[in-house]
Amino acid sequence: MLELVENVVKTSHYLFNRKLVSGKAGNVSARFKNPDGDVITITPTEISLSQVNTKNIVLLNTDGFSINKNIPSSELPLHLEIYKKRPDVNGIVHTHSPYATGFSFSTQKIKRMEGLGDTDKLYLAEVPYEPPGSKKLAFNVSKMIKNEDVILLKNHGLVVAGKNTEQAALMAEFVEEMAKTQFIAQFLNSMNKD
Ligand SMILES: [Zn+2]
Repeated sequence: MLELVENVVKTSHYLFNRKLVSGKAGNVSARFKNPDGDVITITPTEISLSQVNTKNIVLLNTDGFSINKNIPSSELPLHLEIYKKRPDVNGIVHTHSPYATGFSFSTQKIKRMEGLGDTDKLYLAEVPYEPPGSKKLAFNVSKMIKNEDVILLKNHGLVVAGKNTEQAALMAEFVEEMAKTQFIAQFLNSMNKD
């Protein structure tokens, strides 16, 4: 359990240092499988991911009840819904990384590259806009997460589910790289028009 908490702390700092989140945005969680009831550990509300530590991190049961009295990220419903739908997922990250989020605010879609789920689909999965932290946003994501590990949130950011937090963070970084590459390619192509 302590190892899991330390992984969430490490992943939070990684996302911040890699500039995939900034300010107080973004959140990270992990699930500890336990025969007496799973425990979820998630980053706290109103604290930058750069400042997350083993003391301010939140421990909850799967109903969202805080075991250690710390207050969880407002995106807790999103995390809980994903864990409910995906027994294989034990780590989730949510970021507002600039290029992927830029695409979410635009009419352009992020193309999939190899190694990103069901490659028959041309573009990354996207859910329509609902307010951050809302039950509706959590519900929309939970419907789509069955067949996807990466979902773009319209006009908001990105959520990635993985077998642990480290894997989810690396995938979020990969998607940001894809979005950046696509942006550069589209920009260069637009310069060819004369
Ligand atoms: Zn967000």
